[in-house]
Amino acid sequence: MKIAVLSRNPKLYSTQRLVDAATQRGHEVHVLDVLRCYMNITSLKPEVHYKGENLTGFDAVIPRIGASVTFYGTAVLRQFEMMNVYPLNESVAISRSRDKLRALQLLSRKGIGLPVTGFAHRPDDVEDLIKMVGGAPLVIKLLEGTQGIGVVLAETTGAAESVIEAFMGMKANILVQEFIKEAGGADIRCLVVGDKVVAAMKRQSKEGEFRSNLHRGGTANLIRITPQERSTAVRAARTMGLNVCGVDLLRSNHGPVVMEVNSSPGLEGIEMATNKDIASMIIEFVEKHAKAGKTKTRGRG
Ligand code: ADP
Repeated sequence: MKIAVLSRNPKLYSTQRLVDAATQRGHEVHVLDVLRCYMNITSLKPEVHYKGENLTGFDAVIPRIGASVTFYGTAVLRQFEMMNVYPLNESVAISRSRDKLRALQLLSRKGIGLPVTGFAHRPDDVEDLIKMVGGAPLVIKLLEGTQGIGVVLAETTGAAESVIEAFMGMKANILVQEFIKEAGGADIRCLVVGDKVVAAMKRQSKEGEFRSNLHRGGTANLIRITPQERSTAVRAARTMGLNVCGVDLLRSNHGPVVMEVNSSPGLEGIEMATNKDIASMIIEFVEKHAKAGKTKTRGRG
């Protein structure tokens, strides 16, 4: 097969692994910088061009679109869909999962376990917002944050009020969430491929920190997950419409709760922690499913 990997940097671990796995399995792979792709929007004959060349003959496209290029990246992917190239994850599904509010609303509609969460743009009544999610301690998150930056634990109502007001003063979009203390500074990353969790790792925060991000000094280990956690992760992936994703769970007193569904999960941490060849599993999935025109939405909806 001829496969495109949409990635800004061919040297990234995950990109490299996907390229190696696909090449080993006999495929022709091209890494395309999504920001260097340009397109014509005409009826009937959509094209994507790259460095002066018209891209043709691709059977599948593997999007690895970073959060900061979601808008343009999903437009390029949509164009491939219009050209009948099979996308590992569809543009619509990526957009759904990138919009944190939309993602949580979709998950809640399916009755999937979530931390009690509140959103507000500019509430007249911060006190009521805090009460709505069960009071302090609570977690306040900047919607645009990644790698744990902009995730704050407010231990008292007073602290919560000040932080919420400060973020709002900066016109930042935030969400306010029940603090899952019993998670003990750990979260579980489930890697879903198709309708299976193919690998899971537990990330534990360092001493004195509640955020388990590896970038914040957390450590990752192999973990056995429960059938309930497994089915929660698979249902979350299906709700987003993602074939491959990372589902982050917390172990709460009221069962597993989903924190986030990541449409471009990093492979390094989880391959190291579990010793599994996830890149090859992803390529196998592409081999089984890639057929021309086989996208649910072709960018609609
Ligand atoms: P980011 O997307 O920036 O990594 P997250 O929402 O994943 O932000 O939060 C970072 C970390 O903080 C999580 O991995 C988890 O360990 C911890 N955390 C986030 N939300 C909660 C919560 N509601 N209760 C307990 N811990 C949380």
